[in-house]
Amino acid sequence: MAVSAFDLFKIGIGPSSSHTVGPMRAASGFALEALAAIKDTCADDAPLRVRAELYGSLGATGKGHGSDKAVMLGLEGEKPDTVDPAGIGMRLDGIRERKVLALAGVRNVAFDWREDLIFFRKSLPFHPNGMRFVLVDGSGAAVFEKVYYSIGGGFVVDEKAAASEQMVSDQTPLPYPFHSGDELLAQCEKHNLSVSSLMLANESVWRSPEAVRERLLHIWHVMSECVRAGCINEGVLPGGLKVRRRAPQLYRSLSENPEAGLHDPLVVLDWVNLYALAVNEENAAGGRVVTAPTNGAAGIVPAVLHYYTRFVPGASDDGVVRFLLTAAAIGILYKENASISGAEVGCQGEVGVACSMAAGALAEVQGGTVRQVENAAEIGMEHNLGLTCDPVGGLVQVPCIERNAMGSIKAINAARIALKGDGKHFVSLDHVIKTMRETGADMKLKYKETARGGLALNATFVPVNVIEC
Ligand code: SF4
Repeated sequence: MAVSAFDLFKIGIGPSSSHTVGPMRAASGFALEALAAIKDTCADDAPLRVRAELYGSLGATGKGHGSDKAVMLGLEGEKPDTVDPAGIGMRLDGIRERKVLALAGVRNVAFDWREDLIFFRKSLPFHPNGMRFVLVDGSGAAVFEKVYYSIGGGFVVDEKAAASEQMVSDQTPLPYPFHSGDELLAQCEKHNLSVSSLMLANESVWRSPEAVRERLLHIWHVMSECVRAGCINEGVLPGGLKVRRRAPQLYRSLSENPEAGLHDPLVVLDWVNLYALAVNEENAAGGRVVTAPTNGAAGIVPAVLHYYTRFVPGASDDGVVRFLLTAAAIGILYKENASISGAEVGCQGEVGVACSMAAGALAEVQGGTVRQVENAAEIGMEHNLGLTCDPVGGLVQVPCIERNAMGSIKAINAARIALKGDGKHFVSLDHVIKTMRETGADMKLKYKETARGGLALNATFVPVNVIEC
């Protein structure tokens, strides 16, 4: 199995990688497959209807996470990285009014969103985030249907891949393969490579080192634009909780009173908080974000990267590239050995993983050894173990937005602790990844992105619209 940095850092839209980005990718894939399947059997003018069923966590929190909108747009052929966030509202209004959508953008089929988009709390067999799409003819008979699973971070697999547990199908041989933290350390030390140099060599099997660099800098540009947008877009977040955006006001207060920072050495924390809040408020509003490794946790890597570029002497574009490569190497370990899905292992799999990725990456660009990098990544997760996913009202707002600010500060501190040591430590990165997986497996379902436990139960919330099944 080979996972690329660009599988983890994907440009998409908010608010959720597993509930928005994944379903949009699944729906657009279904639309293309369905059209190809009926090409020779259905006349061009034969009446058709499409139905979408969302199961498990998608059924429980799909509305709050924008899964319904993502599915409608995906069925029309839209992709998360190219869809225009500003035009989404008008497109959806059109589909709802006409009760027709253009499958893959080319063939009109009937679709009444009240009847043909159905939410079920029960799960399909292989993962909490399941979807079934069905294309039916005029008599109501299915002419093509397919099941997909959104397995976290925007990754999507079909039923066959899920049944074979082959969640990642790319079998490209890598020059420096690693499947655990220990193997990563051993490869780096044997070949005298930093984590980022090793990752660059691995990425170069898919594209040239120059192309890797260019693409990573583009990812950084999109992250920066997201922070910029979050600092200026005012208002109340959608969804009914009436959560007011805080980043613009914080940005004004920090920019208008720079001298205040002279008296408060901790003002840097305010800036890091600002970067994270800005990204996650944009995410909650359905704006353009980069999964890192998910949307819910999308603020941590950019916030720590902004900290690096704005506050660490000697920061450079090379450092940004190395930061993202190192973060990706750490993210791959979680993806392969545990999970980056809140629906599967709770928020430790999202905010915890992002914190671990950012901590290790910051340690590397601040001159850490590979053992200090591994130590920082380990600390970043160790103190997120057991973190539940309990989004109030099924929305990626409370506690998600603030949780990213806390995760960013924690990542910076993890790197600082690791850099003060010599890389030797008691708990290894592999230990915490195993513990995270097992803790996630032991967690009650209500703490796994169902909006039925934790803060989602105890804080004021807007009920999510689900069919009990
Ligand atoms: S609580 Fe964590 S895992 Fe759950 S939706 Fe929010 S950010 Fe994602």
